Amino acid sequence: MEFFPYSLPLRVPYRWAKGEQLERSGLLARVDLDGAVGWGEMAPPPHETVDGAARVAEANAVVDGLDSRDESFLAHIDARSPYARIRCAIATAWLSARAAREGKSLSAFLALGSEAPAELVPVNGLVTDGDAQAAADTARRLIGEGHRTLKIKCSADRKEDLIRVAAIRDAAPDATLRLDANEAWHPDWAAAHLTDFAGFGIDYVEQPIPAGDTAALAAVRKASPVGIAADEAALDEAAIRELLAANAVDALILKPQRLGGPDRSLSIIRLAASQGVRCTITNSLETAVGVTTALHIASLHGQPIPDCGFGTSRFFAEDVAPPPAIVDGHMTVPTVPGLGVAPQNF
Ligand SMILES: [Mg+2]
Repeated sequence: MEFFPYSLPLRVPYRWAKGEQLERSGLLARVDLDGAVGWGEMAPPPHETVDGAARVAEANAVVDGLDSRDESFLAHIDARSPYARIRCAIATAWLSARAAREGKSLSAFLALGSEAPAELVPVNGLVTDGDAQAAADTARRLIGEGHRTLKIKCSADRKEDLIRVAAIRDAAPDATLRLDANEAWHPDWAAAHLTDFAGFGIDYVEQPIPAGDTAALAAVRKASPVGIAADEAALDEAAIRELLAANAVDALILKPQRLGGPDRSLSIIRLAASQGVRCTITNSLETAVGVTTALHIASLHGQPIPDCGFGTSRFFAEDVAPPPAIVDGHMTVPTVPGLGVAPQNF
Protein backbone atom coordinates (compact mmCIF):
# COMPACT_ATOMS: atom_id res chain seq x y z
CA MET A 1 0.00 0.00 0.00
CA GLU A 2 1.25 3.44 -0.93
CA PHE A 3 0.41 6.82 0.62
CA PHE A 4 0.37 10.21 -1.05
CA PRO A 5 -0.02 13.50 0.83
CA TYR A 6 -2.25 16.12 -0.79
CA SER A 7 -2.67 19.83 -0.17
CA LEU A 8 -5.44 21.56 -2.08
CA PRO A 9 -6.46 25.22 -2.18
CA LEU A 10 -10.05 26.03 -1.28
CA ARG A 11 -12.19 28.24 -3.50
CA VAL A 12 -14.46 29.30 -0.65
CA PRO A 13 -13.01 29.75 2.87
CA TYR A 14 -14.39 27.00 5.10
CA ARG A 15 -15.69 28.56 8.32
CA TRP A 16 -16.59 26.31 11.19
CA ALA A 17 -16.55 26.10 14.97
CA LYS A 18 -12.74 25.97 15.19
CA GLY A 19 -11.78 28.66 12.73
CA GLU A 20 -11.41 29.30 9.04
CA GLN A 21 -9.51 27.17 6.50
CA LEU A 22 -8.08 28.30 3.16
CA GLU A 23 -6.57 24.97 2.14
CA ARG A 24 -7.14 21.33 2.84
CA SER A 25 -4.46 18.72 3.48
CA GLY A 26 -4.63 14.98 3.94
CA LEU A 27 -3.45 11.67 2.62
CA LEU A 28 -4.56 9.26 -0.09
CA ALA A 29 -3.92 5.53 0.16
CA ARG A 30 -3.59 3.34 -2.93
CA VAL A 31 -3.35 -0.42 -3.14
CA ASP A 32 -3.13 -2.75 -6.11
CA LEU A 33 -4.40 -6.33 -5.64
CA ASP A 34 -3.58 -8.38 -8.74
CA GLY A 35 -4.27 -5.36 -10.95
CA ALA A 36 -7.43 -4.27 -9.07
CA VAL A 37 -6.77 -0.81 -7.68
CA GLY A 38 -8.34 0.68 -4.57
CA TRP A 39 -8.15 4.20 -3.14
CA GLY A 40 -8.87 5.63 0.29
CA GLU A 41 -8.54 8.96 2.06
CA MET A 42 -7.34 10.17 5.43
CA ALA A 43 -8.67 13.67 6.14
CA PRO A 44 -7.68 15.10 9.53
CA PRO A 45 -9.94 17.53 11.42
CA PRO A 46 -9.87 20.66 9.21
CA HIS A 47 -7.90 22.81 11.70
CA GLU A 48 -5.06 20.29 12.04
CA THR A 49 -2.07 21.21 9.94
CA VAL A 50 -0.60 18.12 8.38
CA ASP A 51 3.07 17.52 7.86
CA GLY A 52 2.67 15.34 4.77
CA ALA A 53 5.92 13.42 5.27
CA ALA A 54 5.14 12.72 8.92
CA ARG A 55 1.65 11.46 8.04
CA VAL A 56 3.06 9.19 5.33
CA ALA A 57 5.57 7.82 7.85
CA GLU A 58 2.77 7.22 10.39
CA ALA A 59 0.64 5.43 7.79
CA ASN A 60 3.60 3.37 6.55
CA ALA A 61 4.30 2.25 10.11
CA VAL A 62 0.70 0.97 10.38
CA VAL A 63 1.07 -1.27 7.32
CA ASP A 64 4.74 -2.14 7.87
CA GLY A 65 5.46 -5.82 7.26
CA LEU A 66 1.82 -6.68 6.41
CA ASP A 67 0.75 -8.24 3.11
CA SER A 68 -2.32 -6.59 1.59
CA ARG A 69 -3.05 -9.84 -0.32
CA ASP A 70 -3.59 -11.57 3.03
CA GLU A 71 -7.32 -12.15 3.75
CA SER A 72 -6.82 -10.97 7.33
CA PHE A 73 -4.85 -7.82 6.40
CA LEU A 74 -7.43 -5.52 8.01
CA ALA A 75 -7.57 -7.60 11.19
CA HIS A 76 -3.78 -7.23 11.46
CA ILE A 77 -4.15 -3.47 10.95
CA ASP A 78 -6.76 -3.31 13.73
CA ALA A 79 -4.49 -5.24 16.08
CA ARG A 80 -2.16 -2.22 15.81
CA SER A 81 -4.96 0.20 16.91
CA PRO A 82 -4.19 2.87 14.29
CA TYR A 83 -5.55 6.44 14.39
CA ALA A 84 -9.15 6.15 13.09
CA ARG A 85 -8.59 8.49 10.12
CA ILE A 86 -5.54 6.54 8.92
CA ARG A 87 -7.51 3.33 9.35
CA CYS A 88 -10.24 4.90 7.21
CA ALA A 89 -7.76 5.46 4.35
CA ILE A 90 -6.29 1.96 4.59
CA ALA A 91 -9.64 0.17 4.99
CA THR A 92 -11.26 2.10 2.13
CA ALA A 93 -8.37 1.42 -0.24
CA TRP A 94 -8.18 -2.26 0.66
CA LEU A 95 -11.93 -2.91 0.59
CA SER A 96 -12.40 -1.03 -2.68
CA ALA A 97 -9.54 -2.99 -4.30
CA ARG A 98 -11.13 -6.25 -3.14
CA ALA A 99 -14.47 -5.06 -4.48
CA ALA A 100 -12.85 -4.18 -7.82
CA ARG A 101 -11.17 -7.59 -7.97
CA GLU A 102 -14.62 -9.19 -7.65
CA GLY A 103 -16.05 -6.84 -10.28
CA LYS A 104 -18.30 -5.18 -7.69
CA SER A 105 -18.78 -1.61 -6.59
CA LEU A 106 -17.63 -0.89 -3.01
CA SER A 107 -21.22 -0.70 -1.76
CA ALA A 108 -22.31 -3.90 -3.54
CA PHE A 109 -19.23 -5.61 -2.05
CA LEU A 110 -20.07 -4.42 1.49
CA ALA A 111 -23.81 -5.21 1.28
CA LEU A 112 -24.98 -7.99 3.61
CA GLY A 113 -27.90 -10.38 3.11
CA SER A 114 -30.84 -8.60 1.54
CA GLU A 115 -29.14 -5.18 1.48
CA ALA A 116 -28.79 -3.52 -1.92
CA PRO A 117 -27.15 -0.16 -2.59
CA ALA A 118 -29.56 2.66 -3.44
CA GLU A 119 -29.11 4.26 -6.88
CA LEU A 120 -29.46 7.79 -5.53
CA VAL A 121 -28.58 9.39 -2.21
CA PRO A 122 -30.25 12.65 -1.13
CA VAL A 123 -27.99 15.53 -0.05
CA ASN A 124 -28.93 18.28 2.39
CA GLY A 125 -28.41 22.00 1.88
CA LEU A 126 -26.50 24.00 4.47
CA VAL A 127 -27.63 27.40 5.78
CA THR A 128 -24.96 29.24 7.77
CA ASP A 129 -26.00 32.88 7.23
CA GLY A 130 -26.22 34.88 10.46
CA ASP A 131 -28.72 37.36 9.04
CA ALA A 132 -32.36 36.22 8.79
CA GLN A 133 -32.97 37.72 5.34
CA ALA A 134 -29.74 36.24 3.95
CA ALA A 135 -30.61 32.86 5.52
CA ALA A 136 -34.05 32.94 3.88
CA ASP A 137 -32.46 33.78 0.51
CA THR A 138 -30.02 30.86 0.87
CA ALA A 139 -32.88 28.54 1.80
CA ARG A 140 -34.88 29.59 -1.29
CA ARG A 141 -31.86 29.02 -3.53
CA LEU A 142 -31.15 25.55 -2.06
CA ILE A 143 -34.77 24.48 -2.46
CA GLY A 144 -34.65 25.78 -6.04
CA GLU A 145 -31.60 23.55 -6.63
CA GLY A 146 -33.61 20.50 -5.55
CA HIS A 147 -32.63 20.02 -1.90
CA ARG A 148 -35.46 18.79 0.31
CA THR A 149 -33.67 19.10 3.65
CA LEU A 150 -31.93 22.16 5.06
CA LYS A 151 -29.47 22.06 7.91
CA ILE A 152 -29.28 25.33 9.84
CA LYS A 153 -26.23 26.18 11.91
CA CYS A 154 -27.34 27.66 15.25
CA SER A 155 -25.58 29.69 17.93
CA ALA A 156 -26.02 30.43 21.62
CA ASP A 157 -28.14 33.51 20.70
CA ARG A 158 -31.60 32.06 21.31
CA LYS A 159 -33.66 35.02 20.10
CA GLU A 160 -31.67 35.55 16.92
CA ASP A 161 -31.85 31.87 15.98
CA LEU A 162 -35.64 31.80 16.41
CA ILE A 163 -35.91 34.78 14.06
CA ARG A 164 -33.63 33.11 11.50
CA VAL A 165 -35.46 29.78 11.62
CA ALA A 166 -38.84 31.55 11.29
CA ALA A 167 -37.56 33.32 8.17
CA ILE A 168 -36.19 30.06 6.72
CA ARG A 169 -39.46 28.24 7.41
CA ASP A 170 -41.37 31.04 5.60
CA ALA A 171 -39.00 30.73 2.63
CA ALA A 172 -39.13 26.91 2.55
CA PRO A 173 -42.55 25.81 3.83
CA ASP A 174 -42.20 22.17 2.69
CA ALA A 175 -38.54 21.53 3.54
CA THR A 176 -37.32 19.23 6.27
CA LEU A 177 -35.44 21.51 8.67
CA ARG A 178 -32.64 20.35 10.93
CA LEU A 179 -30.69 22.44 13.43
CA ASP A 180 -27.07 22.08 14.49
CA ALA A 181 -26.13 23.67 17.82
CA ASN A 182 -22.55 22.32 17.86
CA GLU A 183 -22.70 21.91 21.68
CA ALA A 184 -23.56 25.62 22.21
CA TRP A 185 -26.68 25.27 24.35
CA HIS A 186 -26.98 24.78 28.10
CA PRO A 187 -28.68 21.66 29.48
CA ASP A 188 -30.81 23.90 31.73
CA TRP A 189 -32.59 25.58 28.82
CA ALA A 190 -32.01 23.35 25.79
CA ALA A 191 -35.39 21.58 26.07
CA ALA A 192 -37.29 24.86 26.57
CA HIS A 193 -35.52 26.31 23.52
CA LEU A 194 -36.53 23.27 21.49
CA THR A 195 -40.13 23.74 22.62
CA ASP A 196 -39.93 27.27 21.14
CA PHE A 197 -38.59 25.81 17.88
CA ALA A 198 -41.17 23.01 17.70
CA GLY A 199 -43.77 25.18 15.96
CA PHE A 200 -41.48 25.46 12.93
CA GLY A 201 -41.56 21.70 12.39
CA ILE A 202 -37.97 20.72 13.14
CA ASP A 203 -36.78 17.21 12.27
CA TYR A 204 -33.95 17.11 14.82
CA VAL A 205 -31.22 19.16 16.43
CA GLU A 206 -27.60 18.01 16.29
CA GLN A 207 -25.67 18.06 19.52
CA PRO A 208 -27.71 20.65 21.45
CA ILE A 209 -25.48 20.39 24.54
CA PRO A 210 -21.78 19.58 25.03
CA ALA A 211 -20.74 16.00 24.30
CA GLY A 212 -19.66 13.83 27.18
CA ASP A 213 -22.78 13.84 29.40
CA THR A 214 -25.02 11.08 28.05
CA ALA A 215 -27.50 11.32 30.94
CA ALA A 216 -27.97 15.05 30.33
CA LEU A 217 -28.58 14.44 26.62
CA ALA A 218 -31.12 11.72 27.45
CA ALA A 219 -32.88 14.18 29.81
CA VAL A 220 -33.04 16.84 27.07
CA ARG A 221 -34.45 14.26 24.68
CA LYS A 222 -37.13 13.21 27.16
CA ALA A 223 -38.30 16.81 27.61
CA SER A 224 -37.93 17.89 23.98
CA PRO A 225 -40.66 17.91 21.33
CA VAL A 226 -37.88 17.97 18.71
CA GLY A 227 -35.72 14.95 17.86
CA ILE A 228 -32.17 14.76 19.23
CA ALA A 229 -29.09 13.77 17.21
CA ALA A 230 -25.58 13.19 18.48
CA ASP A 231 -22.63 14.39 16.40
CA GLU A 232 -19.64 15.40 18.54
CA ALA A 233 -20.73 12.71 21.05
CA ALA A 234 -20.85 9.98 18.35
CA LEU A 235 -17.08 9.58 18.45
CA ASP A 236 -16.69 5.84 18.14
CA GLU A 237 -18.59 2.59 18.58
CA ALA A 238 -18.24 2.56 22.38
CA ALA A 239 -19.63 6.09 22.69
CA ILE A 240 -22.45 5.25 20.29
CA ARG A 241 -23.38 2.10 22.21
CA GLU A 242 -23.61 4.23 25.36
CA LEU A 243 -25.88 6.78 23.62
CA LEU A 244 -28.16 4.02 22.33
CA ALA A 245 -28.32 2.24 25.70
CA ALA A 246 -29.33 5.50 27.41
CA ASN A 247 -32.07 6.24 24.81
CA ALA A 248 -30.33 9.58 24.32
CA VAL A 249 -30.79 9.95 20.53
CA ASP A 250 -33.24 9.76 17.65
CA ALA A 251 -30.44 10.02 15.11
CA LEU A 252 -26.67 9.74 14.83
CA ILE A 253 -24.38 11.86 12.69
CA LEU A 254 -21.75 9.49 11.28
CA LYS A 255 -18.43 10.59 9.82
CA PRO A 256 -16.52 7.71 8.22
CA GLN A 257 -13.20 9.45 8.97
CA ARG A 258 -13.96 9.69 12.66
CA LEU A 259 -15.24 6.10 12.86
CA GLY A 260 -12.33 4.59 10.92
CA GLY A 261 -13.78 3.64 7.54
CA PRO A 262 -16.69 2.20 5.57
CA ASP A 263 -16.92 -1.19 7.29
CA ARG A 264 -17.04 0.36 10.75
CA SER A 265 -19.58 2.97 9.61
CA LEU A 266 -21.83 0.26 8.22
CA SER A 267 -21.73 -1.80 11.39
CA ILE A 268 -22.87 1.31 13.31
CA ILE A 269 -25.67 1.93 10.78
CA ARG A 270 -26.87 -1.68 11.22
CA LEU A 271 -26.63 -1.50 15.02
CA ALA A 272 -28.55 1.81 15.13
CA ALA A 273 -31.22 0.50 12.73
CA SER A 274 -31.81 -2.49 14.99
CA GLN A 275 -32.79 0.02 17.69
CA GLY A 276 -34.89 2.31 15.49
CA VAL A 277 -32.23 5.02 15.24
CA ARG A 278 -31.35 6.49 11.84
CA CYS A 279 -27.94 7.71 10.73
CA THR A 280 -27.08 10.82 8.77
CA ILE A 281 -23.79 10.29 6.93
CA THR A 282 -21.60 13.36 6.64
CA ASN A 283 -18.14 14.00 5.31
CA SER A 284 -15.45 16.19 6.75
CA LEU A 285 -14.38 18.47 3.89
CA GLU A 286 -12.87 15.58 1.95
CA THR A 287 -11.71 15.15 -1.64
CA ALA A 288 -13.67 13.21 -4.24
CA VAL A 289 -12.24 10.00 -2.73
CA GLY A 290 -13.72 10.68 0.72
CA VAL A 291 -17.02 12.00 -0.63
CA THR A 292 -17.45 8.92 -2.82
CA THR A 293 -16.60 6.61 0.09
CA ALA A 294 -19.30 8.25 2.20
CA LEU A 295 -21.72 8.00 -0.75
CA HIS A 296 -21.22 4.22 -0.95
CA ILE A 297 -21.83 3.93 2.82
CA ALA A 298 -25.01 6.04 2.71
CA SER A 299 -26.36 3.94 -0.18
CA LEU A 300 -26.60 0.99 2.23
CA HIS A 301 -28.68 2.84 4.85
CA GLY A 302 -32.23 1.51 4.67
CA GLN A 303 -34.88 3.66 2.98
CA PRO A 304 -35.58 6.45 3.48
CA ILE A 305 -31.92 7.48 3.51
CA PRO A 306 -31.60 10.58 5.71
CA ASP A 307 -30.38 13.45 3.50
CA CYS A 308 -26.60 13.42 3.80
CA GLY A 309 -24.05 16.15 4.51
CA PHE A 310 -22.14 15.74 1.25
CA GLY A 311 -22.30 19.21 -0.30
CA THR A 312 -18.70 20.13 0.50
CA SER A 313 -16.90 19.71 -2.83
CA ARG A 314 -17.88 23.26 -3.77
CA PHE A 315 -15.31 24.51 -1.23
CA PHE A 316 -12.43 23.08 -3.26
CA ALA A 317 -10.69 25.08 -6.01
CA GLU A 318 -9.05 21.82 -7.11
CA ASP A 319 -9.86 18.21 -6.33
CA VAL A 320 -7.98 14.95 -6.86
CA ALA A 321 -10.70 13.76 -9.28
CA PRO A 322 -14.12 15.01 -10.35
CA PRO A 323 -16.40 14.70 -7.26
CA PRO A 324 -19.90 13.19 -7.54
CA ALA A 325 -22.28 15.80 -8.97
CA ILE A 326 -25.34 16.94 -7.03
CA VAL A 327 -28.27 16.85 -9.43
CA ASP A 328 -31.72 17.83 -8.20
CA GLY A 329 -30.53 17.37 -4.61
CA HIS A 330 -29.14 13.86 -5.14
CA MET A 331 -25.85 12.09 -5.86
CA THR A 332 -25.70 9.00 -8.06
CA VAL A 333 -23.99 6.02 -6.42
CA PRO A 334 -21.20 4.59 -8.62
CA THR A 335 -21.86 1.06 -9.87
CA VAL A 336 -18.52 0.46 -11.59
CA PRO A 337 -16.10 -1.96 -9.89
CA GLY A 338 -14.33 -0.54 -6.84
CA LEU A 339 -14.67 2.97 -5.43
CA GLY A 340 -15.55 4.55 -8.76
CA VAL A 341 -13.01 7.38 -8.45
CA ALA A 342 -9.53 7.43 -9.97
CA PRO A 343 -7.39 10.26 -8.59
CA GLN A 344 -5.19 12.01 -11.16
CA ASN A 345 -1.47 12.77 -10.91
CA PHE A 346 -0.57 10.43 -8.06
MG1 LIG B 1 -22.87 18.73 13.60
